[in-house]
Amino acid sequence: MSLRKTVVTLTIVVTVIAVLVAAALFVLTTSLHRTTANAAESAENVRLALQAQIALTEHARAKDLIHQRSTANEIRARLLRASSFVGSEQERRILDKAEQRLETYLASYRDSSRTAAEVMAAYGAAYGALGELVDINVIQSKEAQDHAGRWNEIANVIAVVATVLLLLLAAALLVWLKARAFAPIFELAATMNRFGRGDHSAVAVERGPRELREMCRHFNEMAAAIAAQRKAQTAFLAGVAHDLRTPLSALQMGIVLLLRDPSHSSNEQLRSALERIARQIKRMDRMLGDFLDGAKIEAGLLELRVEIHDARELVAEVVDLFEGMSEHRFELRLPDEAVPICCDRLRIEQVVTNLISNAIKYSPSDSVVEVTLRPGPKQVELRVSDQGVGISEQSLSRLFEPFSRVGLSSEAVPGVGLGLFVVRRIVEAHGGRIEVESAPGQGSTFKVLLPRSEVLRGRG
Ligand code: ADP
Repeated sequence: MSLRKTVVTLTIVVTVIAVLVAAALFVLTTSLHRTTANAAESAENVRLALQAQIALTEHARAKDLIHQRSTANEIRARLLRASSFVGSEQERRILDKAEQRLETYLASYRDSSRTAAEVMAAYGAAYGALGELVDINVIQSKEAQDHAGRWNEIANVIAVVATVLLLLLAAALLVWLKARAFAPIFELAATMNRFGRGDHSAVAVERGPRELREMCRHFNEMAAAIAAQRKAQTAFLAGVAHDLRTPLSALQMGIVLLLRDPSHSSNEQLRSALERIARQIKRMDRMLGDFLDGAKIEAGLLELRVEIHDARELVAEVVDLFEGMSEHRFELRLPDEAVPICCDRLRIEQVVTNLISNAIKYSPSDSVVEVTLRPGPKQVELRVSDQGVGISEQSLSRLFEPFSRVGLSSEAVPGVGLGLFVVRRIVEAHGGRIEVESAPGQGSTFKVLLPRSEVLRGRG
């Protein structure tokens, strides 16, 4: 189902429930109003009938004619008023009967030919009819009360049903959003993040509502296009790098021969120029090596020839090489016992070389570069720290991406920004990981964690 359809359906369902509840409330309040009006009219008629009964008694006891007339008029007025609050046919009949009996009593009262017993009988009949009027109104009032009670129960049922329906709907919506909408969004965001950090194998799983599936599909298409473009670019650069390496090797060999030539040893200026050229050729060779390694990694062709080695020897050898050719002061800290690791020697040497070379490149020439090897129970930790320019927080996140050259240092120092990308891939291919701690002007520490060899732990 699509996100749009779900939202539209949900809106319609909620609107229908709201309209039904509003209609029910309208009917309910109208009916309750009518019921209360009926109850009030019945109560009024009870009062009028009782007052008429009292006036009738007064009339029967009255001695003078004026009093008799006024009470008779009062009873008539009460009954007339009661007729405007009649709530049923039955009440109408009873009221008519009461008026009739009253008139019969008043006529017999005035008729001197009637015996006292006949007058009393007519009085009793009129009094009884008024009593009936009281009773019918009490019954009607009770009925109105029962009616209101029933409507109250209906209102309660409607409220409970509407609340339960809305709660169920809200719960269903939450569950749906969590499982079908939010989960795919978070997954897509994580995949984009992985892709952004250089993992070009990151693929978004197409699931969830139609719109999200489309987004995932578009992302996958875009990612595939970028990855293909990048592959083609890297393959082209690798080709160029490969072709450049051949004349570079010839140049390197030529320089070595020239440096070995005894006729040049006396000419100090020429010798230093040749040495400078040799250094630049070496640097170019390293850059071309990075290009070729980057291309291999992008193509998934990084091969490792793993054997068990003592990490101390490996690290010491690389540091030794740098000590001879750099003005930096090296502090090498190695444990006394052998540190066996299962690795491709050349590749791990490449990692150490790259990290030390960066430490040298991005720190002042007489500063200290610390190289520490620390064996743990499961992992071996190699730290390379410098006192150089450091790296800003926002640059740290892009540091291991291919062709990423960050900060001010990158403009002044030669490089292609592939070294750390290659380093990370080599470390990860060995089942390890690389971390960095740095701040601008505070130097940098690169930490490589490699799994310690289980096989040789006993031997080590
Ligand atoms: P590059 O060939 O440019 O040195 P890397 O991949 O080795 O390529 O490094 C990428 C970027 O990371 C460098 O351009 C530099 O800005 C930064 N960087 C690497 N190591 C250090 C360090 N030790 N100190 C400061 N910046 C560093």
